[in-house]
Amino acid sequence: MEGRIIDLADARIRRGDHIVRGIAANGMVRAIAITARQTVQTAHENHSTSPLVTAALGRLLMAGLMMGTMSKADDELITLTVHGDGPIGGLTVTANNHGQAKGFANHPNVWLPPKADTHLDVGGGIGAGELSVVFDRPGIAPYSSQVELVSGEIGEDLTYYFAVSDQVPTSVGVGVLVDTDTSVRQAGGFIVQLMPGHFESLVDELEANLAAVTSVTDLLERGMSPSDLLGYVLRDMDYQELEVVPAEFHCGCDEARASRAVAALGERELRDMIEKGETAEVYCHFCGRRHYLALDELRELLR
Ligand SMILES: [Zn+2]
Repeated sequence: MEGRIIDLADARIRRGDHIVRGIAANGMVRAIAITARQTVQTAHENHSTSPLVTAALGRLLMAGLMMGTMSKADDELITLTVHGDGPIGGLTVTANNHGQAKGFANHPNVWLPPKADTHLDVGGGIGAGELSVVFDRPGIAPYSSQVELVSGEIGEDLTYYFAVSDQVPTSVGVGVLVDTDTSVRQAGGFIVQLMPGHFESLVDELEANLAAVTSVTDLLERGMSPSDLLGYVLRDMDYQELEVVPAEFHCGCDEARASRAVAALGERELRDMIEKGETAEVYCHFCGRRHYLALDELRELLR
């Protein structure tokens, strides 16, 4: 009789937003996939984003989450910034390698007519501009690189970034499907990379497989999990899963951080505020939360 081992913790993670990492073709292919409906929904609620911006920010959030887990360093932060001349203006996402990310759009309430294929016009919302990627570790000077945007559709821009900056042939697919009530219906994506030393035949095989993926959200609508996505993209390539990590929208801001931000204004500014009887409000761009400091707390800071 055959038995099957079921890991309850693993099963619990797979019920919510999560990232899977794996390899295929004897390690010549490195692959990551994500499902993040709740993460993108949280971003939508925090920032009251329009469907177009929900899709744009959601795509970048998922890319950040996946790229975060590619980091070898436990304490590394990755920040993806998109600047464009379109009405959204820009997007910023910061992720760690524990499946946590936060992010915001410069203009969260942009509406544009859908494209001919009925998809949201993310490229039109972003426009022409550049993508910058910054790796940050405590005690080490941040490392950054920039590339021009290819289409502003995020997935294509990141694909180009990996080719230019890392010189690793990579395919990035990210998609967000927004429901008619503006809530997030589906959100997911994948990153597939060819490692140095791969056989040329593998390139053709992978390209043929990827050509069949016309829309990530269509695959998610069919009920595919991140594991299924990678199994589909890497079919007939001996795909093996290595790790599953829960994913979430997480901002580390709190009262203590807000206090430090106010203290950084300096003694003169603080005295001035207290004399005028003002209270302080600290707005967090990343999660949209507001932290308030009462007059007593300002006096405390001065001491
Ligand atoms: Zn925050």
